[in-house]
Amino acid sequence: MVPFAEQGGVYDPSLMCPLVSGVRAAAIYARISSDTEGKALGVARQLEDCRRLAERVGWTIGQEYVDNDLSAYSGKRRHAYEQMLADLAEGRRDAVVCYHVDRLTRRPVELEQFVATVDAAGVRQVRFVSGNMDLGTGDGLLIGRIMAAVAANESAAKSRRMRRKWDQNAAQGLPHGGSTRPFGFDADRITVRPDEADVVRQVVARYLAGESLRSLCTWLGEENVPTVTGGQWRSPTLRGLLRSGRIAGLREHRGEVVGPAQWQAIISPADRDRVLARMTERATSGRRTPRRYVLSGLLRCGRCGGKLFASPREASRRYVCLPGPDHRGCGRLTVVAEPLEDFLVEAVLQRLDGPELADVMAGQRGDAGAGELSDGLAGDEAQLQELAEMFGKQEISAKEWRAAREPIERRMKDRRRQLAVLTRTDALADLPGGGQLRAQWGGLSLSRQAAIVAAVIDHAVIGPGQRGARSLDPSRVEAIWRV
Ligand SMILES: [Zn+2]
Repeated sequence: MVPFAEQGGVYDPSLMCPLVSGVRAAAIYARISSDTEGKALGVARQLEDCRRLAERVGWTIGQEYVDNDLSAYSGKRRHAYEQMLADLAEGRRDAVVCYHVDRLTRRPVELEQFVATVDAAGVRQVRFVSGNMDLGTGDGLLIGRIMAAVAANESAAKSRRMRRKWDQNAAQGLPHGGSTRPFGFDADRITVRPDEADVVRQVVARYLAGESLRSLCTWLGEENVPTVTGGQWRSPTLRGLLRSGRIAGLREHRGEVVGPAQWQAIISPADRDRVLARMTERATSGRRTPRRYVLSGLLRCGRCGGKLFASPREASRRYVCLPGPDHRGCGRLTVVAEPLEDFLVEAVLQRLDGPELADVMAGQRGDAGAGELSDGLAGDEAQLQELAEMFGKQEISAKEWRAAREPIERRMKDRRRQLAVLTRTDALADLPGGGQLRAQWGGLSLSRQAAIVAAVIDHAVIGPGQRGARSLDPSRVEAIWRV
C-alpha cells in the first residue's frame, strides 16, 4: 500500500475544505511490531505521517497512543491501544488517525471490536495514512475486514516462516534461543564455561560410576555449585542436564537429536549414550527411594532360587524370600543383612586386589563389543543428521523425516540397551586398589558402594540357615563372580 502522501493527484474533498470536519480531539495510534524483516515501520515515521494527515484534514490532535514492539497478532495486551478504546468509548476522542489498518489490528475479531467501539461512541472519523477508507460506511467496513483478514494471513505466514527458520537452525546445529543460559555455556549458548564444564564431566563420571542423581545433587550443594538461576540442584534438573544432547555437542530439535551442533562438546556422545543407557536401566529397575540395602537385587534364595528382598523387620535389617504372586518365592529363607553385607563387601574388596580383575578390566577396555556398539551409534547419528539436512533443504517433508527416523531410533535404543550391560563395569574404572578402597569405603555413598559390588558380583546364593541366627555362617554364602 502506497502512503497517502505519495498517492498524488487523488481527489479527496476533505482535503479541500478542512474546517468542516469539526474534529477537536483526534486519537493518533501508532504501533511498532517486532517484525524486523523489511516491512518494519518506525513509530517516528508513523506518527509523523499521521500528524501530517490530521493537519491536512484540519483535525486537532487530542492524544497520541503508542505501543512498542508488540505484535497485534500475538494476542498480547496492548496497553495504549486499550487506553485509546476506553477514551473513545467515553467520548474523550472524536476521531482516529492511524498509519495503516494493520497497525491498528492484525486480527479480524479485534477489528470488529474496534468498529463496534467507534460505532457506539458515534465516532465517524477514522483515517488511515495508507489505504484511506471510511469505516463508517458499509463499503469501508468491508474493505477494513478484508484488509484485516489479509494482515492476519500475513502474520500466520510469518509464524510459519519462523518455524521453518527454527527447523533450519536445528539442521545447521545452531542454538535455539531462550531466556536462561544452559549450564556449562555462556549466554550465547556456544561458548563453553570451563569451570561448569568441569562440573558436568565430574557429575557424568560419578553418575556412570553408580551414584544416584539425588546423591549427586547433595554433592553439588556441598561443593557450592549453583544452578544457572542460582538455585539448588534437584534430581529433575540434574537429569535434564545429564540427558541433554547439548553437553555432548548434539543439536536437539523438538526433543530429539538431529545432528552435531555448532558448539563444543563437554562430554563425548558415547558417554551420553552410556548416561541414557543407565537412566533407562534405572527407570526399569524402578528404584525411587534412597537405597538402604547395598545387596538389593543381588541375592538368591538357596531353597527356591527366587530373589531375596530387603525387609526392615523390628530393629534389624534383613533380606528375605517372599511368597505370594508378586514375589513368587518359597517364603522360607531369611538372612540378617549386616553380617552378610560385611562379609560380601570384604570379599569384593579382596577380589578387587586380585589379578583377575586387572585382566578383566584390561580385556574390557579393548572390548570389541562396546567399540562396535559405539561405532554403530555414531553411524546412526550420522544418518539422522543426513535426514535433518534433507529436511532443512526441504528435500523431504516433516512426515517423511519422522518416518525415516523411526527405524534408526529403534536400532539406537537397542544398541544403547546392549551398551548399558557392558557399562556396568564402569563402576570399576578409575578405582584405587582394594586396599585403598577399603579405607575409603565408609565414605562412599550407598549407591556408589552398591554399584561397585554389583560390578564384581553377578549374584550370591544364600543357603538355608538356623532359625533366628544373629550371626552369619559363611558357608551359607556362595558368590557368583562377574569378574
Ligand atoms: Zn525361597
